[in-house]
Amino acid sequence: MFYFDPLYLVFALPALLLTFYAQWKVKSAYSKYSKVPNRRGQSGLDFARQILGPLGLSYIGIEGVPGELTDHYDPRDKVLRLSQGVAYGRTIAALAIVAHETGHALQDAKNYAPLRMRGAIVPAVTVSAWVGPILFMLGWFIGMSGVAWLGVAVFGMSLVFALVTLPVELDASRRGLKILESFNALDRDELKGARAVLTAAALTYVAALAQTLSTMLYYVFLLSSSRRQD
Ligand SMILES: [Zn+2]
Repeated sequence: MFYFDPLYLVFALPALLLTFYAQWKVKSAYSKYSKVPNRRGQSGLDFARQILGPLGLSYIGIEGVPGELTDHYDPRDKVLRLSQGVAYGRTIAALAIVAHETGHALQDAKNYAPLRMRGAIVPAVTVSAWVGPILFMLGWFIGMSGVAWLGVAVFGMSLVFALVTLPVELDASRRGLKILESFNALDRDELKGARAVLTAAALTYVAALAQTLSTMLYYVFLLSSSRRQD
């Protein structure tokens, strides 16, 4: 059943290129600023311990997580999970990432609506991301456009997820930069580095949205152009 439609490339290529670019940008920004020590010589872990209390987040735990750039805030366990490089790195990148993840913790504490929405649709998205395309292909190959359209609708959940993720991530970075400023963690020129790391990370979420959107447009294009031929 596998066949490759060159037309798919026309739809997918721009988003694919953007994804590669964003991934390269994030890796290069991180590898650059994870080598630049911050002037106060503070590690990510020290910084997290310093800021959680004053921000009213003293109930939030801090745990380690394996891997690189795997840092995240878990709203269910109320835990900040930091990778080794971020927890023990006394660098600009380490503080930027801790600040961003603490931004997510603040969103959680303040009931930030897009974060709640994203959390609510996560279970549906894990299913829709593969059930949608399967339904679409099934409908397409057996010539039942109703099934194919249902696949598009189910896949639409992934688009909603990518759309909601964008404000969640941008807002976490905005809060993170504010935290870095208000705690005087970084000097003005160091803040530029932190901003570079967080902006590159945000671009990966834009790329994910573009990828989902282009797949969706490809499906819709196939279905509506086949109807015209009938
Ligand atoms: Zn984030």
